[in-house]
Amino acid sequence: MGSPPFAKVLIANRGEIAVRILRALRERGITGAVIYSDADRTSLPVLLADEAYRIGPAPSPQSYLKGEEIVELALRIGAGAIHPGYGFLAENAGFARRVEEAGLTFIGPPASAVEVMGSKLESRRIVADAGVPVVPGSGEMPDAEAAAEFAERVGYPVMLKASAGGGGKGMRRVHAPEELPKAYRAARSEARASFGDDSVYCEKYIERPRHVEIQIFGDRNGTVVSLGERECSVQRRHQKVIEEAPSPVVDPELRRRMGEAAVLAARAVGYVNAGTVEFLLAPGGEFYFLEMNTRLQVEHPVTELVTGLDLVRLQVAVAAGEPLPPGLDRIEPEGHAIEARLYAEDPYSGFAPSPGTIERLRLPEGPGVRNDCGVYEGATVPIHYDPMLGKLIVWGSDREQAMLRLERALAELRIDGIRTTVPLYRALLRDPDFRAGRLDIAMLDRKLAEGELAATDLSPGHLAHCPELPMIAAAIEHVERAASRSRVPTDGAGGSRGRWSAAARREAIEGGRWS
Ligand code: ADP
Repeated sequence: MGSPPFAKVLIANRGEIAVRILRALRERGITGAVIYSDADRTSLPVLLADEAYRIGPAPSPQSYLKGEEIVELALRIGAGAIHPGYGFLAENAGFARRVEEAGLTFIGPPASAVEVMGSKLESRRIVADAGVPVVPGSGEMPDAEAAAEFAERVGYPVMLKASAGGGGKGMRRVHAPEELPKAYRAARSEARASFGDDSVYCEKYIERPRHVEIQIFGDRNGTVVSLGERECSVQRRHQKVIEEAPSPVVDPELRRRMGEAAVLAARAVGYVNAGTVEFLLAPGGEFYFLEMNTRLQVEHPVTELVTGLDLVRLQVAVAAGEPLPPGLDRIEPEGHAIEARLYAEDPYSGFAPSPGTIERLRLPEGPGVRNDCGVYEGATVPIHYDPMLGKLIVWGSDREQAMLRLERALAELRIDGIRTTVPLYRALLRDPDFRAGRLDIAMLDRKLAEGELAATDLSPGHLAHCPELPMIAAAIEHVERAASRSRVPTDGAGGSRGRWSAAARREAIEGGRWS
C-alpha cells in the first residue's frame, strides 16, 4: 500500500461510527482526531483517538452541529480532511461546501449532490428524468385540496411527505379522504418545525413493500459501481432495526436491474464516494426509487461482510483522488450477513429511552461475529443523542447459518445497567415470518401491536418484570447475612467468602440461566 492519502483526518461525529472511522484511519497510517461534547468526555472514540478536541456542551446544536467551529478546528490542527460519519452534518450541503471552500477534503460526495438529494421533490424529478422508476407521486402540494385531488386520482391510501424530510419525520399515511386535511396540516407543521421547510408532496402508498437499498460507490474519474443490495424491511416506525445482505428475495437478475437503476440515479447527480439508493420493492417485483442517502449508512457492515470490502477505507481513498479498484462491479455477495442495531431503549415499555451507566458489558465473540460498538463497560450513555449503542453483525455461509449465529451471539451478549432492544431481537429470531424471510416494512410494527414478540427470556435488563424477584432478593440477603454472621475468614480484597458466593449466586440468577 502506498503512503497515507492524508496525514490527519478529523472525525465530526461520535459513538460507534467515530470508532469505525478511527479504525479505518489507523489501518492506513492516518492520524485520527475526534471532536467531543462535554457529555462524551470519556467516550470510547475519545479514548481510542490519536487526538481529541472538546467542541462544546452536550446539546448537539452547541457541539456536533457547529460546522464553522469544526472547520476552524480542522484547519488549526492541520487535518487534511473531515469525515462526517452519518447523522449530524453528514448530509448538510452547506457544511460540505464550507469544508471544500476551506481547502479541506470532505470525505463524502460533492456538496452539489448532497444538496439535490436533500430535496425529495428535486431528487425524484432528476432521477425520473434519468430513467429510474420512482414511486408515483405529485409535485409540491400547496394545499390540502390539491393533495386530495391527487389522492383521488391515484387512489387511497397515499403518503404525504415533507420534501426536506428525513428520519421518518413529516410523513403521514392517509387512508381515506376525511383524514387528509388533518394529516396535511400535521405533515406541514412537522416539516416546518423539523427542517425549516414546509413543502409537502404526495405519493401513492405502496402496500406491503420491502425496503431494499443499493450501495453504490463513485470515484473522481466518473466510475460508478453498485455493490449489491441490503434488505432493511425490519423497521419500527420507519426506522431500521435489523438489516441483512443479500436480500432473501433478490436474485441475480433483479440485483443487476436494481444496481443499474441505482447507478443511473447516482450518475444523474455526478455522485462521488459512498452512497445508498433506497427503493421500495413491491410484492409483485416492481421497484421504485425512494431516496438517496449521500453518506455512509449505519448498515454498511453487512455489505462489507458479503463483499470483503472496507467501505470506509474506500471512502478515504476515493476522497484523496484514488480510482476505485477494478472489478468491483462484478462482485457477487458471498454468504449472508445480518446486523442488529443495539438501542438503549426498552422495547417492552414503549421503547422508552434508557440512558445511564453500562454496569456490565460482555460482547459476543467467535466465528462470524463482528461488533461495531461505541461504548465500553462503565461508560455512561447520555440522553442527548441517538440511542444506538452500536451494532452486532454476523456472517454465515447462508441465511440460516447467519440467523443461528445471531441467535448464539445475542445469547452471549450481556448489557447490564440500562435497558436495550436485545430481548426483542431474541424474540424476533424465533418468529416464523422472520425466519422464512417473509418481510415487509410494516411487519415489525404489526407484530408489536399484536403482542407477538413478547419477551420470553429473562435477560438481565428485564429481571425487574419477574414476579419472583422480591423473593429471590430476600433469599440472597438472608444467605448473605447468615454468611457474615458465621464470620468466614475474609479474603484479600476485604470482602467475605460468604459475600463472594452470594454475589456469584446473584450473578448466576442475573446471568439469564433461565433463558
Ligand atoms: P425518510 O427520509 O424520512 O427516512 P423515506 O422516504 O426514506 O423517509 O421513507 C421512510 C420509510 O417510510 C421507508 O423505508 C418505508 O418504510 C416508508 N415509506 C415511504 N414512502 C412510502 C410509500 N410511498 N409507500 C409505502 N411506504 C413508504
